Amino acid sequence: MWAEQRGIHVDQSELLCKDGCGYYGNPAWQGYCSKCWRVRTRSTQPDRQEYGPSSCPSPAGGAPLTFSKFEEKKNTEKGRRVNTMRRLFWGSSPSPPKKEPSESQIAALKAFQSLQPGDFTNFLKLLRRPASQNLQSRCTAFLNTMEAYHDLPVEKQSDLVQDFYQSIAGHFGSLPEEQTVQMMEHIEKLIMTRLHKWVFCHDSSDDEQKDLVLQRRIRALKWVTPKMLRVPFKEEGSEASDPFLTAITAIIEMDARRTPQDKLTCVSKCSQSVFQALASSSSEPANADDFLSGMIHVVLKANPPRLHSNMQYIIRFGLPHSLMAGESGYYFTNLCCAVAFIEKLDGPALNLSPEEFEEYMQGRRPPPHSGVEGCEGLCRARTNQQLLAEVTRRQEKLAEGVCAMQAELSQWVQAVQSQVDDIQAKVPLHITSTESDI
Ligand SMILES: [Zn+2]
Repeated sequence: MWAEQRGIHVDQSELLCKDGCGYYGNPAWQGYCSKCWRVRTRSTQPDRQEYGPSSCPSPAGGAPLTFSKFEEKKNTEKGRRVNTMRRLFWGSSPSPPKKEPSESQIAALKAFQSLQPGDFTNFLKLLRRPASQNLQSRCTAFLNTMEAYHDLPVEKQSDLVQDFYQSIAGHFGSLPEEQTVQMMEHIEKLIMTRLHKWVFCHDSSDDEQKDLVLQRRIRALKWVTPKMLRVPFKEEGSEASDPFLTAITAIIEMDARRTPQDKLTCVSKCSQSVFQALASSSSEPANADDFLSGMIHVVLKANPPRLHSNMQYIIRFGLPHSLMAGESGYYFTNLCCAVAFIEKLDGPALNLSPEEFEEYMQGRRPPPHSGVEGCEGLCRARTNQQLLAEVTRRQEKLAEGVCAMQAELSQWVQAVQSQVDDIQAKVPLHITSTESDI
C-alpha cells in the first residue's frame, strides 16, 4: 500500500472496494466492500438469496474518491447517504419489496415518522404500542433466536443480523428514505445493545489473541514520534498539551460503547478531532496523508483497549450504509488503514534505516525526544532509561566475557591434560619405592 514511497502514503483509490463499485473496502473483507464481499462468500451457498454483482451500485457515479472530492462531498453527504441506504438494502431494484400495509400499520409508521432524529427513548415507547406489535414481535423473536444460538460461529451470527437488517428495512419501506435510515439506526441500537454481550469478542473467533498481539505491537512502537510519522505538529512551549488529546480520548472511549453505531460515533469524533489538531498545528490545509499519519499517531498514543475486537464487531454487526459510504465510512476505513499500517510499520516508512528501526524496537537506542512532553520527570525518566540500557549493555558484555573465559579455561585444562597424557605415554613412571622399603 505504501511500499513504493517513503513515508506514509495511501492512494485514496485504494480505500475503495476492489470490485470498483465505488464503496469503501476493508482489509476484513479482503479489500472488498461488505456487499461485494457477501456476494462472494455467499455465492457458494445455493440456498441463499442471490444478490448479483449488478445490485451493488456505485454511490458516487463510480469515480474514485479523492480527498478534495471527499471534502466537497461532505456537504452533500446527507442526501447521498440516504440514497446509498436504499440501494444497500434493496439493491438496484426500483422499489423495495413491500406488502400493502394495513391501516393500523400506516398509523404506526406515521407515529415513527414524527420522531426527532436520535430519539431512541420515544422510539421504544412507540414500539410498545399495540399498532407496532408486528414489528415488536419480529424483533423479540429474532433476539430470542440469537440468544438461544449464541454459540454459533460469529460469522454466522453476523450473517443472521445482516439478513435481519435487510428484512426489517422492508417494514419501513414506505417511509421517506432519510427516516428509514433513522429507523434502522434505532433497530440496530435495539438489537445490538442486547446482543453485545453474546457476540462481542466471541469464543469462536481469535479476536482476543489478535487484540493482545496488536496491543503488544503498539507498545513496542511507543518510541515513534509525530516527526517520524510526519504529522504536522507544533513543538513550541514545553507545557503545551498534545493537540491530539481529544482524539485520543475519543478512540479510547469506543470500547465502552455497546452498539456499532455508537462505536462509529467515537471513530468519527476522533477523526474530526484529528482534523482540528492538524488545522491548529499547520497553516497548510491537511491532506489525506496528513490525516492518516495523524490517525496512526493517535492510535499509537492511545493504544485503545480491544481495538481489533471493536473493529471486527463494527464490521460484523454495523449497518452496511454507515460502513461502506459517507463520512463515517471514510473515517472507519482510515482507522482500519492506520491499524494495517501499524501492523506492517518498518524503517523506510518512518524514514529510518532497517538497522535503526531494529535498534529502537529492541530498546537499544534511546527513544528520541518527541516534542510532546517537556516535563522534568519525563526527562529524568528518559535519562534513567538510557543509563539502564547502558548498564544492561555492559552486563551483557561482561556475561559474554565470562563465557569466553570459561571456554578458554576448559580448553587450557584439556590441553594440559593431553600434554600430561603424552608425556606419561612417552616416559612411563615406575614407582620403585614403597613405604615398606623405608
Ligand atoms: Zn463493492
